[in-house]
Amino acid sequence: MSEPAEHIDGRPAMLHPELQADGDPDAILRNGQRLDHAEGTSRPLRSQPEKQPRGAKIHGNRPVDQAEAAARFIAAPEHEKMHDERLWDLRQKRDREMHGIPEWEELRSLASAIKEHTLTHLDQYLEQFEANARSNGIMVHWARDAAEHNQIVHGILKDHGVKSLIKSKSMLTEECGFRAYMASVGIEVIETDLGERIQQLDHEDPSHVVVPAVHKLRTDVAEVFSKTLGTDPDNSDVHYLAEAQRGATRPLILAADAGMTGCNFAVAETGTFVVCTNEGNADLSANVPKLHIASIGIEKVIPRLEHLGVFVRLLSRSALGSPMTQYTSHFRGPRAGGEMHIVLVDNGRSERLGMSEFWTSLKCIRCGACMNTCPVYRRSGGLSYGATYSGPIGLIIDPTFNARKYSNLPFASSLNGSCTNVCPVKINIHEQIYAWRRELVKRHEVPLAKKAAMKAAGELLSHPAAYRAAIAVADAALAHLPRFVIYNGLNAWGKHREVPHPPAQTFHSWYQANRGGAS
Ligand code: SF4
Repeated sequence: MSEPAEHIDGRPAMLHPELQADGDPDAILRNGQRLDHAEGTSRPLRSQPEKQPRGAKIHGNRPVDQAEAAARFIAAPEHEKMHDERLWDLRQKRDREMHGIPEWEELRSLASAIKEHTLTHLDQYLEQFEANARSNGIMVHWARDAAEHNQIVHGILKDHGVKSLIKSKSMLTEECGFRAYMASVGIEVIETDLGERIQQLDHEDPSHVVVPAVHKLRTDVAEVFSKTLGTDPDNSDVHYLAEAQRGATRPLILAADAGMTGCNFAVAETGTFVVCTNEGNADLSANVPKLHIASIGIEKVIPRLEHLGVFVRLLSRSALGSPMTQYTSHFRGPRAGGEMHIVLVDNGRSERLGMSEFWTSLKCIRCGACMNTCPVYRRSGGLSYGATYSGPIGLIIDPTFNARKYSNLPFASSLNGSCTNVCPVKINIHEQIYAWRRELVKRHEVPLAKKAAMKAAGELLSHPAAYRAAIAVADAALAHLPRFVIYNGLNAWGKHREVPHPPAQTFHSWYQANRGGAS
């Protein structure tokens, strides 16, 4: 049985220093101490800064070994503990916000219904959005896939002689490999979101859709900035680091030739789009240079302006447990003397829309709540997934891009359903993850050993007498076999855990003895 959060192994639980509550008015406290929610995994912190574990190793189209990368993350206790606590903190704040809104479940149902209606009439709403955006003076382009998106944007930039571009966070551009493409054509891209900039300077992808550098300790950021911006490597003060980054990036922003943003919601009836940020960086990207390009996934469209309130009320509360994003910016058209372009991107979305078991994943508003609550994600870090999208929603989306490469991901879940419970647009996430497992077996993308093991388990579980006999043998074996027989390379489960001691009596034998019930 797990011990209360305040005590682990009889000692007071140590909260990671990065999460000390001093001066944080939003901290969740118990008995005057910030709540530690490491669920019994706390271990003493090392005195020396721990090296940040890197993400999954990518080998072309070979299946990404998420478990291997997760094991490296777990083997770095400071990172694992901080990551787990930080994300669980967001989950708790989300719960607190949710309890403050009596109509929360109504809002979720409404958001889900609006998205499902829009997705089932997507062609009409996209055409309406395009017509209205054009009449607002915006130039609209359509991109079938990532390559076309990058070429279109490059074409616009080339026409304007752009050499440097400032950009706010956009998962779609990550999906398109946009930065790498721009580097190949000699255009400098500067990320303006702090977390995203940290990741850019560290040559890493974002590890979370909302908080891209959440897997990093302050000491990791200090190391990155010392190498790239020349800051003091021993100073990991948050204000010092943020100010240094600001000072280094601001002149680049002022000198940039073009700006780029993503989009949270595109409103069909007005032809306008909305970008939500907490740093105001999208507004810099959109307003400082005269040329503004917005990359918009086709699933971002919503029918009417009045629907926006439903999503805006859900988004930030679900994502960070705050009532609103600091900036909810509406873009209607180019400013005087400027130019505004929109690139509407499909990149596999139409195909997903036609997948009967997975189409509702297009309702996702990228709040990240499913990641914050997921026990696997919290302990393994987003980069262990080796894909643009990590966590529970990534397990559904990534295989739609490449079923072979991401064939291991749908197995990185306990299917506990917590992701489904927190999703603000009511995506049945854990059911879709399970559906992907079946689909991968059908497509022969599951290793033979795993398939054989599952088949044997299926046989055993469907024959009660054989199952009981096997359990009796296993109980006796576990009690008497030497450790090396149980804990070896063949037992991946036992690598990080002790097999629990079998009870003296199973429930079934107790029931037979005490109730005499038929089996
Ligand atoms: S699947 Fe739901 S909870 Fe997860 S990021 Fe998308 S909207 Fe948020």
